Amino acid sequence: KNGLMQGKRGLVMGVANDHSIAWGIAKKLHEEGAELAFTYQGESLRKRVAPLAASAGSDFLLPCDVEDLESVDAVFAALAERWGSIDFLVHAVAFSDKNELKGRYADTTRENFARTMLISAFSFTEATKRAAAIMPNGGSILTLTYGGSTRVMPNYNVMGVAKAALEAGVRYLANDFGPAAIRVNAISAGPVRTLAGAGISDARLMFSYQKANSPLRRTVTIEEIGGTAAYLLSELSTGVTGEIHYVDSGYNIISMPRTETLKA
Ligand code: NAD
Repeated sequence: KNGLMQGKRGLVMGVANDHSIAWGIAKKLHEEGAELAFTYQGESLRKRVAPLAASAGSDFLLPCDVEDLESVDAVFAALAERWGSIDFLVHAVAFSDKNELKGRYADTTRENFARTMLISAFSFTEATKRAAAIMPNGGSILTLTYGGSTRVMPNYNVMGVAKAALEAGVRYLANDFGPAAIRVNAISAGPVRTLAGAGISDARLMFSYQKANSPLRRTVTIEEIGGTAAYLLSELSTGVTGEIHYVDSGYNIISMPRTETLKA
């Protein structure tokens, strides 16, 4: 087999189940010949992640909670020990208290603001720095964001502010690690029905609204996100870094809902 990712090794962070965006990406990378390692958040998720990893040809599973920096360090130490170096990293990790993913942004608490920022934005900086240290031949690093970073989406609230920080981080990290031939990009995905997605109030409404109003008139699949990820992590995109690439059926270009939907 002569896949796009043949001969490349990397880590996928953020598989919780077979609906996870990270899983759509992992499947595609495996199809394209990549060798994969996975993190899982806590023992209960290991049971879910292990069979998925096995179906992607991997028995390399590492526990990681990004709130515990020692567990992050242990992940990269294990990668260095088993593989020596890596070629790519996928970061698909985010969290906020779902009680604050509704109502007004202004009511966000100090505690949840800090926690959301740490898990959803700063963890990407910490993981990128550690991944870059084991990318002697360059590499490609990818995170997942959402358009609530630049435009107000009802209920997305503090997660939108965290995604704005994450996206700014992508640009600064791209500049920091560009001289080492390490690229850093984000995919801004349209809404997908996942565990994290379900935490946002009125997620179903958002889903059908984007379906009705995006140019493609549908939402995106995790496999489509996986395809774009394979492009960004492979040699096809060696001139691309610091980019926020929308995979959202074109929803982000639209200004006004379709008049037909307003009349109905
Ligand atoms: P998901 O629930 O399947 O994945 C979220 C992952 O984050 C889980 O695997 C969970 O274990 C992990 N995580 C949360 N807190 C963690 C912590 N402290 N330490 C380690 N891991 C932790 O949901 P998903 O929708 O696939 O989310 C993946 C990424 O995609 C997130 O960054 C999310 O914001 C982003 N995204 C999702 C959508 C959507 O509509 N679902 C749209 C755009 C972007």
